[in-house]
Amino acid sequence: MSQTPTHQNYINGAFIDAVEHLEVHNPANGALLSRVPESRAEDVERAIAAANDAKKAWAALPAVERASYLRKIATRIRDNVPALARMITEEQGKVSGLAEVEVNFTADYLDYMAEWARRIEGEVIESDRPGETILMLRKPLGVVAGILPWNFPFFLIARKMAPALVTGNTIVIKPSEETPNNCFAFARLVEEVGLPKGVFNVVSGAGASVGQALTGSSRVDMISFTGSVATGSRIMANAAGNLTKLNLELGGKAPAIVLGDADLDLAVKAIRASRIINTGQVCNCAERVYVERTVADEFVTRMGKAMAATTFGDPLAQPDVEMGPLINRAGLDKVGRMVKAAVGEGAELITGGAVADLGHGFHYQPTVLAGCRADMGIMRQEIFGPVLPIQVVDSLDEAIVLANDSDYGLTSSVYTRSLANAMRACREIDYGETYINRENFEAMQGYHAGVRKSGIGGADGKHGLYEYTHTQVVYLEA
Ligand code: NDP
Repeated sequence: MSQTPTHQNYINGAFIDAVEHLEVHNPANGALLSRVPESRAEDVERAIAAANDAKKAWAALPAVERASYLRKIATRIRDNVPALARMITEEQGKVSGLAEVEVNFTADYLDYMAEWARRIEGEVIESDRPGETILMLRKPLGVVAGILPWNFPFFLIARKMAPALVTGNTIVIKPSEETPNNCFAFARLVEEVGLPKGVFNVVSGAGASVGQALTGSSRVDMISFTGSVATGSRIMANAAGNLTKLNLELGGKAPAIVLGDADLDLAVKAIRASRIINTGQVCNCAERVYVERTVADEFVTRMGKAMAATTFGDPLAQPDVEMGPLINRAGLDKVGRMVKAAVGEGAELITGGAVADLGHGFHYQPTVLAGCRADMGIMRQEIFGPVLPIQVVDSLDEAIVLANDSDYGLTSSVYTRSLANAMRACREIDYGETYINRENFEAMQGYHAGVRKSGIGGADGKHGLYEYTHTQVVYLEA
């Protein structure tokens, strides 16, 4: 019988024992998977100190040399896809195919960010003074704290560490309590490629202790966080004393607008896929639909059938299922509460609407709710589960007003065959991303950023890369 693994923090290039531990369980069946450090303030301090000690030598390396380590990590990831994907499925619950996509995408992302090494550019600015040259340099910020969610835990490591490291920063990562195992696996690959010690560190534990210690430290120069609005706001308050730079991705309530002239086959297929991927636990998947009255009945009927046909269960025991469990009991209870409240307020249950009793795990039935209204919580709060609420509208104008009336502003989508409608929606929808005739999966060369409470700053592409730098303007009279 194999023993339950006990992980160690990765600090200053070494795996270090912890005094106390947390247990990690499989959300599909409750099995105990591992014990991971419940780090204390002194562990966090040690990791921050290591990252500070390493930053000068790391920043002094040519960017192309820093990037070579990212490429080596990408290669090691590709050598280990099945094992890494299995680990993600075990602790997070996503289906194996998606876990493999996540692992491969992570490797591609590291390679993509490595390509920026020779493209980091400053500026030469015209001076008012004779003989003077003004230079704008780009420099690393120093030490980054990367605080991770559980929904794409492996990819999020790369999304934070790759731009941080290629621009010359060092990093301390805190994985989610729910999904730390894959982060320790990542740390082992980092060790194998010989990354200089202290450049990449991992400390696990609770947000309330480890997260608080990291985000309140005066020796951390930037906090890069993905997670909930409530936690983002807490982090902002905690960082205020040091005025630490923040990069916050705080989720969404993505509206999908389906117009009367839409290709309904496409809209149903794309919105359903977006609602069940990762069991609906994605910041940019369709969280609410506004469908034009002329096609509303047909859309609701087709969507109900499509969602009802979704298969779900324990992804390792039943590899063919389309959907795994929700992450934990709190997630399951939240989805159940929101659906119950919506039905109580008059929403019509088309399919689903209950916890799926499989005898194990946190499974919720794929659910469609019709007849929703803007005043219902289900149309305003992030569900983070396989539940699609639908509201009927009479025009694109009405849909745009409703879409924009949200605390969130991360992603949005529009289904139409009319270029004029699509362009008008793009002009008038106040969101960081808009997909036309498709759903989520942003490109690594794009810029994933939201407005309103969806966050501050963004990730990916050139603009995401430069978030990890500060400028220095040099007035050179020589
Ligand atoms: P949280 O935002 O609470 O957690 C995300 C990360 O922040 C975890 O690593 C967590 O630690 C850490 N954290 C928690 N409290 C603090 C703190 N005070 N200081 C620093 N770090 C902290 O999300 P939940 O896991 O509780 O999920 C709740 C909801 O958040 C979801 O239902 C969903 O609506 C939203 N969410 C959005 C995501 C997105 O992609 N934007 C991703 C995940 C969640 P730990 O969990 O280890 O204690």
